[in-house]
Amino acid sequence: MRCAYMAHVCIHWFRKGLRLHDNPALIAALRDCKELYPLFILDPYLHDNSRVGINRWRFLISSLQDLDSSLRKLNSRLFVVKGKPEEVLPKLFTKWNVTKLTYEYDTEPYSLSRDKNVTTLAEERGIQVIYKISHTLYDIDRIIVENNGKPPLTYNRLRDIVRALGSPKKPIPAPTLEDMKNVASFSEKHKQEYGIPSLEELGLDTSSLTEEIFPGGEQEALRRLDKYMQRTGWVCSFEKPNTSPNSLSPSTTVLSPYVTFGCLSARTFWWRLAEVYQGRKHSDPPVSLHGQLLWREFFYTASVGIPNFNKMQGNSVCTQVDWDENQEYLAAWREARTGFPFIDAIMTQLRQEGWIHHLARHAVACFLTRGDLWISWEEGQKVFEELLLDGDWALNAGNWQWLSASTFFHQFFRVYSPVAFGKKTDKNGDYIKKYLPILKKFPPQYIYEPWKAPRSVQQAAGCIVGKDYPKPIVEHEVISKKNIQRMKQAYARRSSASSESPTKKQGLKRKAPTVVDLMQKKQKKS
Ligand code: FAD
Repeated sequence: MRCAYMAHVCIHWFRKGLRLHDNPALIAALRDCKELYPLFILDPYLHDNSRVGINRWRFLISSLQDLDSSLRKLNSRLFVVKGKPEEVLPKLFTKWNVTKLTYEYDTEPYSLSRDKNVTTLAEERGIQVIYKISHTLYDIDRIIVENNGKPPLTYNRLRDIVRALGSPKKPIPAPTLEDMKNVASFSEKHKQEYGIPSLEELGLDTSSLTEEIFPGGEQEALRRLDKYMQRTGWVCSFEKPNTSPNSLSPSTTVLSPYVTFGCLSARTFWWRLAEVYQGRKHSDPPVSLHGQLLWREFFYTASVGIPNFNKMQGNSVCTQVDWDENQEYLAAWREARTGFPFIDAIMTQLRQEGWIHHLARHAVACFLTRGDLWISWEEGQKVFEELLLDGDWALNAGNWQWLSASTFFHQFFRVYSPVAFGKKTDKNGDYIKKYLPILKKFPPQYIYEPWKAPRSVQQAAGCIVGKDYPKPIVEHEVISKKNIQRMKQAYARRSSASSESPTKKQGLKRKAPTVVDLMQKKQKKS
């Protein structure tokens, strides 16, 4: 065992948590530290091109560049290496004579097993390992303990527990030059081999990239947060169901990519909101912005407490559905060729920009699964994982289960219409025109259903359906009714397989209001 009071040579391993603010593991690294190696590992499992689309790659690389530039201001640098962490780290431990390793706790199953292996490898070498919780508002394991060892399966239950736990911890400040004063400067040691690779150096095809609307990095995250927090009226009156899936500029914060990569701490986000709310009348969970962050906590807790959370099979709370395998339908959905302009516009925005509104996600997820195409939510999850800037293991899996009415949400008979839903907030179809310019000359009455336009109208619009834009892939009115019946059967099989189903056991009868519920309630009111 090494002496506890020696000055350490420390690796702070950045994975998520790509920031300096509210980074308790980084602060722990700086305690009694004489040499600091801020490290990022490009892991062939996590950073595989089938999982990470080009937009997310760009976001990651900008986030690393931003981190490096902030570290330079502290006379430090980011060291980037490639390889399996279990293989790369032992080599660096020896090369740099490392005595301490710090990292942020990560609840994903892959990360947990990786971190367990790495911790063993480090401790075998006498290296002190410190990890800290800062990716979520709370210690997720603690929430599960407070719920008698089970993850809460309703939002209200989660809220009761976190209310009893008290407010999330306050974020801690970023390290300063003063914190770094005894730490050797590493600009010199930072040889070319540890630089951040460009997208081209990574061998990525960048030809499909368009303007970078959401640049990665902590500085941009904090700038964006500031910008939104200045809109105090908007923040205080924020109600998710009142935001629009198809506005031409985002109607919600688009802080999700920054929270996912940890460029923005969820606790910083939470406490900035609390400052805005202070002394003002404001909306409340589940619809408020605090409420959105609690949805994140809800799905994280479920993902930790439910084995095989990203799969249907082996997932005890997920309804087992006999989804079809249909590569043609799946490709049409993924490539925005379904013939339903609202769906195709959303999928185009996703592909081009890497972000779509929550209710737009509802629309395309319902369409792919129980609504129209009857394709497994796991397939949709894979496509979202690749294309979303904010692709997050727990949130993606949890929300896909919700939308496919497999877990958490059970009103499978409520199906989004790929025609009527978008019209509520965009009668003219301006959003469709923006993302599907081929349809831009269609008059509003046909923009959501161009196949219904008379031939003369199609000719005048310069777009013949079936030739220039696809015919609808399914007949929504017919197929959605058939699918409701198939869903009904899946539910019947489920309840006959277990008269005491896990969902019943865990209190699913007490449903949290859904966004759809709240929208309908609002419509009734108005
Ligand atoms: P805001 O409304 O501004 O909310 C603020 C923050 O709260 C978000 O940044 C996010 O961190 C959190 N949040 C908001 N809504 C949710 C939610 N429903 N569940 C969990 N956290 C939420 N979100 C991801 O971050 N990654 C994903 O991979 C992801 N996959 C999804 C898949 C499907 C099928 C659906 C329906 C939703 C998915 N979501 C995912 C949740 C949600 O759509 C996004 O978090 C949200 O749209 C991000 O936009 P925003 O930052 O403007 O949100």
